[in-house]
Amino acid sequence: MMDSDAKYQVCSRCVSDTTIPDIEFDENGTCNFCHIHDKLDAQFPLDERGKQKLDQIVDKIRKDGQNQKYDCIIGVSGGTDSTFSLYVAKKMGLRPLAVHFDNGWNSESSESNISNAVRKLGIELKRVNANFEEFSDIQRSFLKASVPDAEIPTDLAIGGVLHRTAMENGIRWIISGRNFRTEGIQPLKWSYMDGKYVQSVQEQYGHLPLMTYPNLTIPDMIYFSLINGIRSVSFLPYMSYSKEEMKEILKREVDWIDYGGHHFESLYTRFVITDILWAKFGIDKRKVQLSAAVRSGKLTRDTALEILKTPPSGDPEITRMVLEKIGFTEEEFEEILSLPQKTFLDYPTSYPLIRALKWPIKLACSLNLIPMIFYEKYLGARI
Ligand SMILES: [Zn+2]
Repeated sequence: MMDSDAKYQVCSRCVSDTTIPDIEFDENGTCNFCHIHDKLDAQFPLDERGKQKLDQIVDKIRKDGQNQKYDCIIGVSGGTDSTFSLYVAKKMGLRPLAVHFDNGWNSESSESNISNAVRKLGIELKRVNANFEEFSDIQRSFLKASVPDAEIPTDLAIGGVLHRTAMENGIRWIISGRNFRTEGIQPLKWSYMDGKYVQSVQEQYGHLPLMTYPNLTIPDMIYFSLINGIRSVSFLPYMSYSKEEMKEILKREVDWIDYGGHHFESLYTRFVITDILWAKFGIDKRKVQLSAAVRSGKLTRDTALEILKTPPSGDPEITRMVLEKIGFTEEEFEEILSLPQKTFLDYPTSYPLIRALKWPIKLACSLNLIPMIFYEKYLGARI
């Protein structure tokens, strides 16, 4: 994209480049995201120590939940990471409750992946449906706000639903499908998540008040973690499976179906990746995931660079369907595409509070109360 720019640079180790905001390179031309990866890599060793650590975590989850119907809760989307987490939890003898937040945009394959997985594994599923009128008003607001965070209302709502369902059922542990080795580390200006951000964008651009939206603000998170003792953990960073290896196991064990694209379990997600992030902002998030695969030795750097030569391609039929369902005319959408680009820094958020709490957050991370990636992502960058 920026090949003509004299300052254009690609990391000498991964495929992250100067289209990624706030990227920095050391004297060897290695980027700051590679350095974050190495720090996390040291904390999650894939040898015997990692295996022991995972066993300890699973024992603790089992002990904390011994008098409850469920000992952990897992949010499922039908995608690889969440389905694989469900599979691992069951294999390790846990008693998870699967929860699916339906924002109204599920594809048929995501629906079948969820129902096949819970049936095959014998796990109870709780579905939580968004109030579509209110939810799509929030989605429209984020498009009007002209920020790349169009999927944040969904991601945050999943967190809100999981925490509330955990509290209602006396569950202490939320198992996430996060994995820096396959997902990589998103720059903050491409993906910033915070409940106050949703409130302020909705106040400014929305038509409806936040009534049923399961928001998750920083005070909510403090309440859930400190008062209710709810903790989050991911099993995947302790395991060395690549995406492809996980997919093969899931196809074999739980009749899982591949969508043919990362996060294409939802039509809206696909629309955001191609029609918003790429078409409007020139953001290609595959750079983050491919960089992760290269750092983890699952893909060569040359292959990743080759893949990136083909830009994310949209589908006019999906664009038309999404605009119709969300309630924008083509003219209104054209207007949105031409708005000046903004980031979360243009709106009131809890970011100043997060920065003010830098040292307590670092302490909480070192005590494993908050995942270390939170500190690295929200407080590691100099912006
Ligand atoms: Zn790098």
